[in-house]
Amino acid sequence: MITTELSNVGHIIQSQRDFFQTGKTKDVTFRIEQLKNLKQAIIEHEQSIVEALQADLHKPEVESYLEIGVIKEIDYAIKHLQNWSKPKKAAVSWDFFSYSARIYPEPLGVVLIIGPWNYPFNLIISPLIGAIAAGNCAIIKPSEVASHTSHIITEIFAKHFDPAYIAVVEGGVEASQKLLAEKFDHIFFTGGTAVGKIIMAAAAKYLTPVTLELGGKSPCIVDTDINLEHTVRRITWGKFINAGQTCIAPDYLLVDKKIKKDLIDGIEKCLKEFYGDNPLTSPDYARIISQKHFDRLVNFLKDGEVIIGGENQPSERYIAPTVIDNVSLEDSLMQEEIFGPILPIIEYTDVAEAIALINSRPKPLALYLFSQNKNLQKRVLQETSSGGVCINDTIMQVGVSSLPFGGVGDSGIGNYHGKASFDTFSHDKSVLQNSFWLDLKWRYAPYEGKLPLIKKLLG
Ligand code: NAD
Repeated sequence: MITTELSNVGHIIQSQRDFFQTGKTKDVTFRIEQLKNLKQAIIEHEQSIVEALQADLHKPEVESYLEIGVIKEIDYAIKHLQNWSKPKKAAVSWDFFSYSARIYPEPLGVVLIIGPWNYPFNLIISPLIGAIAAGNCAIIKPSEVASHTSHIITEIFAKHFDPAYIAVVEGGVEASQKLLAEKFDHIFFTGGTAVGKIIMAAAAKYLTPVTLELGGKSPCIVDTDINLEHTVRRITWGKFINAGQTCIAPDYLLVDKKIKKDLIDGIEKCLKEFYGDNPLTSPDYARIISQKHFDRLVNFLKDGEVIIGGENQPSERYIAPTVIDNVSLEDSLMQEEIFGPILPIIEYTDVAEAIALINSRPKPLALYLFSQNKNLQKRVLQETSSGGVCINDTIMQVGVSSLPFGGVGDSGIGNYHGKASFDTFSHDKSVLQNSFWLDLKWRYAPYEGKLPLIKKLLG
């Protein structure tokens, strides 16, 4: 296994600065070559990536391909990069008639990408695509908690990329802190809100811009005007994929009282359809990443009343898909991000109660609404704030490259995916150019007699 010595961090950053200074990454052809190289490297190591994800999270092969599907984002970037990187003409007003204005996207330099453990491959590679597309050098630090995936990422990059261009630093808090002590041109962090604050504080020392892709409790409102069968399947899938360890999984349901029983019965039936009578033996159901997270989740089972599931097995870090009714808003289950296969259900009689509850909490990363009622859709969009919204489905918003993905408030700062990734890792340099064919004197001293004209021009 190849790992980067922590004592070497300063040296790697310097070598990346030197490489950046050569101007090589500014060449769009070079960037496209590197994106193709990345795609090829992923395809070559597909099987090892699947195995690493299986070892870390017992991730079913199909779900692993959702991570490896990041290749689609590489193709999207390759297709659009020439256009994205072109200088864009900007409009000028009539009084600037002798000028032309352009916006030049330019790379930032050397960037740091820190990833989480839940989609440990995808959430490192996806931002990296933006960093490469925009012409940066990058240091990536995968999560030490998903150690097998972290090792395979290290192997892939050691084999296919020069560390003076893209380097991997493995390790936990110590490695992160060592990196954060250095100056970067951008830090892209995916993880929890608490650590996000630590990242931002460290970045402030050098005025380093940050993108923070954080978590939180994403609510899911279920109205009566739905196709119940489709609703049930989409919620059950979105909640229990990766055993609920998905940043945009529906954290809790807010259900119209009139449909609650049908919804619960539907989820129960759907869970059997997905994972059989005993999800423990299903090849399609993941495990909790670590003992620490397992213990945290089992503690939630004390809150409310378990109406589906609740079984667990510490030796396997298995927690059955669980639905909990009669929770109190003060329960820890409703205070903390769940990030596991436990789904609390809260009923409402008027949707205003659901909206008020959402608005009394930190702004979520995702908000889900199941309803065909156009007025209700409009109302929820208007009266709530969240990183994104998905209507009549879950999770799928993450796969649409033309939609920027990110949080707001406690759920994050900035966004990425598609063009937004390119923008995140670029600086928009404004360039104004004048010509020499005319030089009106209205702005030059002596000012005597010029005030009326200035007032007219600027007023
Ligand atoms: P985490 O915040 O514990 O760790 C993320 C990364 O930060 C890891 O690489 C870790 O080594 C590093 N880290 C941990 N403690 C640190 C410290 N004190 N100083 C510096 N670095 C430190 O997050 P996690 O447990 O890996 O992931 C779960 C969280 O991530 C959840 O809250 C989830 O919602 C969120 N998440 C968000 C997104 C998104 O796209 N917005 C995606 C996945 C996960």
